[in-house]
Amino acid sequence: MSRLPEEEHPNKAFGWAARGTSGVLSPFKFSRRAAGEKDVAFKVLYCGICHTDLHNAKNEWGKTLYPLVPGHEIVGEVTEVGSKVEKFKVGDKVGVGCMVGSCHSCDSCTNNLENYCSKLIATYGGKYYDGTVTYGGFSDSMVVDEHFIIRIPHNLPLDAAAPLLCAGITVYSPLRFYGLDKPDLHIGVVGLGGLGHLAVKFAKAMGAKITVISTSINKKKAALENLGADSFFVSRDQDQLQAASGTLDGIIDTVSAQHPLLPLLGLLKTHGKLVLVGAPEKPLELPAFPLLQGRKIIGGSLIGGIRETQEMIDYAAKQSIKPEIEIIPIDYVNTAMERLLKADVKYRFVIDIGNMLKPTS
Ligand code: NAP
Ligand code: ZN
Ligand code: ZN
Repeated sequence: MSRLPEEEHPNKAFGWAARGTSGVLSPFKFSRRAAGEKDVAFKVLYCGICHTDLHNAKNEWGKTLYPLVPGHEIVGEVTEVGSKVEKFKVGDKVGVGCMVGSCHSCDSCTNNLENYCSKLIATYGGKYYDGTVTYGGFSDSMVVDEHFIIRIPHNLPLDAAAPLLCAGITVYSPLRFYGLDKPDLHIGVVGLGGLGHLAVKFAKAMGAKITVISTSINKKKAALENLGADSFFVSRDQDQLQAASGTLDGIIDTVSAQHPLLPLLGLLKTHGKLVLVGAPEKPLELPAFPLLQGRKIIGGSLIGGIRETQEMIDYAAKQSIKPEIEIIPIDYVNTAMERLLKADVKYRFVIDIGNMLKPTS
């Protein structure tokens, strides 16, 4: 008894969706559930564009359900709360990241790591408890269980807060978990996009010395002068790689495409840690010897739990960490996706949904 997305739920909703592997987005009418007793309904004001939206819109990870309404860096204003909602009220400024559900009882959930729950429900392209497909923040409204809602601190601008909800927590969590948050460590950041530029800002605030390793020489000046990186080199520059060999305590690798790990392992000190947060479509080649020599560690990390996401955004507000954004109207979204693929953004597109998303008849 599959029903049209427009008729599934009582409340009309409007967004932009990808319909096939071209990833091209176009206007889409669907519906949202009525707010349940633990639900918070909100009007979407801003939504960041994450590279994951692009991977999913084009089905690069092979699990996309079309039509797909992407967007998991969502900020908005509460319009309605269910009778048992405790933490939020109408008018509050709130955010939602990559998750809208989990089992609440497994080891991960009970340790505030909903992000590692095997029953995690993704903000878009997932199956909700009632069996309906979830739709993301490239849309006018959201209805989300209050457990998965983040409070936006008053001193963060709402548009710039959006990218913290995925990109921010994705780099903050591994810096903390892998002990790369101690002052005076030397941290490498590979790939200076949405995640990478926030890795620079968070690691800097934690007291690290930062080296950016990028494919784009044109990002050098801004990385050093605006983001606070201490050094910068282009990943293909053998002389620079050689000169920096054995100097880094840790690396946050945010690269979205296949790339060699060997040069990165060479940059690590003994016991250095290479943390992968980028999610390339194809497997990466892992050479064993450089890991053995120096007892190095490779790890991964997936977003962060809800408690840590709130901690991260409060920390960002306190430290005045703000994503660098380019605000766009929704009808620029396909061009923005093309530019994202070419690493042509400094450093996050944020869609102005509240002012510029208008339903088409
Ligand atoms: P992004 O803004 O597009 O940044 C990725 C950066 O990687 C680019 O700006 C570019 O930086 C570099 N890059 C791109 N293609 C490359 C290539 N072929 N070789 C080397 N470097 C290349 O993307 P993002 O939104 O930051 O996301 C980055 C990755 O993280 C994506 O795969 C995304 O799906 C994944 N992600 C993972 C999580 C998680 O929980 N682990 C969460 C969010 C996103 P330069 O120009 O500086 O080289
Ligand atoms: Zn994301
Ligand atoms: Zn669970």
